[in-house]
Amino acid sequence: MTEATPFAERLADLEGEALAALAAVETEDALEAWRVSYLGKNGRLTGELKGIGALTPAERPQAGARVNAIKAALETAHGARREVLKEAARSARRIAEAVDVTLPGRGRGVGTAHPLTRALARIEDIFAGLGFSVASGPEVEDEFHNFEALNIPAHHPARAMHDTFYLPDGRLLRTHTSTVQIRFMEVERPPFRIIAPGRVYRADAPDPTHSPIFHQVEGLAVGEGVHMGHLKATLSRFLEAFFERPLTVRLRPSYFPFTEPSAEVDIGCFLCQGQGCRVCKGTGFVEVLGCGLVHPRVLERVGIDSERFSGFAFGMGVERLVMLRDGVSDVRLFYENDLRFLASLR
Ligand SMILES: [Zn+2]
Repeated sequence: MTEATPFAERLADLEGEALAALAAVETEDALEAWRVSYLGKNGRLTGELKGIGALTPAERPQAGARVNAIKAALETAHGARREVLKEAARSARRIAEAVDVTLPGRGRGVGTAHPLTRALARIEDIFAGLGFSVASGPEVEDEFHNFEALNIPAHHPARAMHDTFYLPDGRLLRTHTSTVQIRFMEVERPPFRIIAPGRVYRADAPDPTHSPIFHQVEGLAVGEGVHMGHLKATLSRFLEAFFERPLTVRLRPSYFPFTEPSAEVDIGCFLCQGQGCRVCKGTGFVEVLGCGLVHPRVLERVGIDSERFSGFAFGMGVERLVMLRDGVSDVRLFYENDLRFLASLR
């Protein structure tokens, strides 16, 4: 038995070591490596089985039975470990894929029209209530409709102020919506009241108050006996409706080539109630638009009798109105499409 004892001890040690190693196995790959190491064709237990041939014939049956018993025990333990690992993987997957039905839904933001589109719609709505219909014209214009017909001949200083984008063929991107006045009056006879909302272009470097593209709304009313009183009443009604509050409206003499007389329209600053602040630069008033009575020469240009008919016209920047109403400090925000900004406006 002196030979058999070391063999039996070695087997016992091998079984203990294999079971300890198996308990530490945490992955499918490690489990397979363990199987190859102990139970594989060149595994350590298989090696012991081959060693039986060196024992005496009397010892062999007992040793063989012992090796087979350990092999069966290790295979059973291997199967059990595999089940434990599978169950752990299933459980981890269940936790990862778990759906908590009590959580609030993520939702999808409801889209809305751009603040400028909404402002244009409101402006059209207010003027519709004052009897104005909507007219439109092309954004690519010729010099006649953008300048000459509006009493701005070549070399007139006002042309330089407009920083015009010219196209290679000599046409240009309209610098104001006043072009629509001319196009409309070329085909329609008074009386009429129209507004012309649209995009206009100036070769300005973008900064907090300048954008190379912006929106204007042009207004034009022509009839018999139209005067400055009609103009001021129309603009006061519009401005109070747009800003949704009573306003002090002031007309200040100004100059435009296509109106005579011309005026800038100021409203009492509603941030400081006329006391003077940063927005109104301490004056208590904020400039909102330009206007005047249509210059007789503009009417004559389109064949309307300026002795019989008179009219008023005005032009306003849509971005400027929204900036004033909603306290927006930088015109570029309208074009950057940052949803946080866009959603912050009414
Ligand atoms: Zn102010």
